[in-house]
Amino acid sequence: MSQKINLLSEDLCNKIAAGEVVKRPASVVKELIENSIDADANDIHISLEEGGRKVILIADNGNGMNGDDLLLAFERHTTSKIKDFSDLDSIQSMGFRGEALASISGVSRIECISCTENGEGKRIRIDGGKVSDFSPISGSKGSIFTIRSLFYNVPARMKFLKDEQTEYRYCLDIIRRLALVHNNVRFTLKHNGKEIFSLDDNDIKNRISILFTNQQTDKLIPINYDSGELKISGFLGHPENSRTRGAEQHFYVNKRIIIDRKINGTIYSGYSDYLERGQYPFFLLYIELPPSEIDINVHPEKTEIKFRRNFAVTETIKNTVKTHLKDALKQDPDNPDSKELWHYSDDNQKYQESDFYSKNNSLNKPRARSEQMEFGKNSTFTAQTPDMDLFNLDKRIAMLDASLENGKEGERRAKLEPKLWQAHKSYIFTEIASGVLILDQHLAHTRILYDSSIRTLEQKEKGNNGQQLLFPISIELDPMDWSKLLEIIPSLEKLGFGLREFGKNTIIIEAIPLEARSIDEGKLLQNILDDYKTLMMGKNPLLHSIALAFAEKSAIRRGERLSEPEMQSLIDRLFGSENPYYCPKGRSIIINTSLKELSGKFK
Ligand code: ADP
Ligand code: MG
Repeated sequence: MSQKINLLSEDLCNKIAAGEVVKRPASVVKELIENSIDADANDIHISLEEGGRKVILIADNGNGMNGDDLLLAFERHTTSKIKDFSDLDSIQSMGFRGEALASISGVSRIECISCTENGEGKRIRIDGGKVSDFSPISGSKGSIFTIRSLFYNVPARMKFLKDEQTEYRYCLDIIRRLALVHNNVRFTLKHNGKEIFSLDDNDIKNRISILFTNQQTDKLIPINYDSGELKISGFLGHPENSRTRGAEQHFYVNKRIIIDRKINGTIYSGYSDYLERGQYPFFLLYIELPPSEIDINVHPEKTEIKFRRNFAVTETIKNTVKTHLKDALKQDPDNPDSKELWHYSDDNQKYQESDFYSKNNSLNKPRARSEQMEFGKNSTFTAQTPDMDLFNLDKRIAMLDASLENGKEGERRAKLEPKLWQAHKSYIFTEIASGVLILDQHLAHTRILYDSSIRTLEQKEKGNNGQQLLFPISIELDPMDWSKLLEIIPSLEKLGFGLREFGKNTIIIEAIPLEARSIDEGKLLQNILDDYKTLMMGKNPLLHSIALAFAEKSAIRRGERLSEPEMQSLIDRLFGSENPYYCPKGRSIIINTSLKELSGKFK
């Protein structure tokens, strides 16, 4: 390596710095909208093409910039929002680093038209950091930024961009988060020329209903706390609408979007009396604190935060969540669902009264642990698929038996009269020559459905026709789920779903796959979308994600009673699959306990 120290060119600096704030089109969208808000705009139009990869246009009716400022705005470290060090302690604006425009203009083709109050304005064009046009123009007060071909001159970054729909969803996510906190601002979003939404109503609840039309936001519980210095407001999702994946969580501090696992953890602990392990709630919470109580300058995108009095703040948030849930759910005593709620509150975990903010928060008494949840009563399991009768049960079990313990095959295979017994409506016990097998019915069925879905999806032509619904149902999806759905409709149809687009963000379900066991078809589809969403984020291929989401949501659940023939056919089909021992996510489906192990236990 050369020892010589070089001063990097400004152009290169901008490209390097761009990496910090500008990761993808959504980061540009966030920075530009925040600039519009800082310029006091109350009407912001966003128009994206190809998920923002091709064009991002943001038009606002804010204060605009005069010609001098317009030139300066694209220089590094130029900001109108702070002047000296002491200002850092009292920041009210969204931006303050003076980095965004310099960074964005270094890695794209950018145009800005900005006019001030008197209608005079300027247009500037910058290509990869070089000004290519600067001319007078007149228009109404405000600014219009157009960013084209993001990363056209940084191929390494361009390569990391995802496909159009994924980048679009990142943009949509950030716009939603901004619209849910800046409710005094009207937001209009278009994608590829089509209007996605126009939010002109200031009411947060109305915005919620447009931006999330799914069950998550049913029965929201309002929350309010005010100690003078610390204010907490917003909405908590009802515990019964919590999810294992894909719960929407929105948290803001002084109107800034905060995405921070630790803070989410604080809120979950407020829910601990009401949630089963692995279930996550919806929430939309706004925290307000004096600016001197927080440090926002810990993260380039400003989505993480440090509280000066961290313990006091987080304890207060937790306890406020707890007491609001308790009050709301108490008023709803004969809510049948609340009886099914599990809690996993750790009795040893002592509540510590916050020394600073909280006054009247009391701890919930732990609720009695209720019976295991019951799912899908009246199930009628149909096990008739063409590939399942290839082998009969005896043969399969004998083979399994042999493969589990090599040697002495003939002896063990000899006589097998399977007896099947279902324990706790969840596990199937069966005797084999060498001992006892225990199967998890949900995982077993998941494996079967997953394998058959993969086979169907890999075929060129459509798989089974689904079962037609007597009464087709229409479900309205929020814009985010809608974009997911568009991506996977062809695959869902292959699996046997009959789907028809019906107006804006609405789909009609006309048929569902034969194997789908959900009582509520709308929920089934929604759950598949949720699962698919999070699975895709784990970078799993499309095929796997859809097959797994479908299999998990359609499989027999724990808690469903199965008849003996149903159990038999389940085992038959499981051992007909290539990998009967593990579910697609790698969990064991079968426990094999040998006679030796058993007798060892009775010493
Ligand atoms: P920061 O927001 O941290 O100050 P930016 O690079 O995002 O830095 O913006 C630089 C400056 O450009 C801002 O301080 C502001 O004065 C001006 N500016 C940017 N966008 C707008 C806008 N939409 N309307 C008016 N002024 C703007
Ligand atoms: Mg800014």
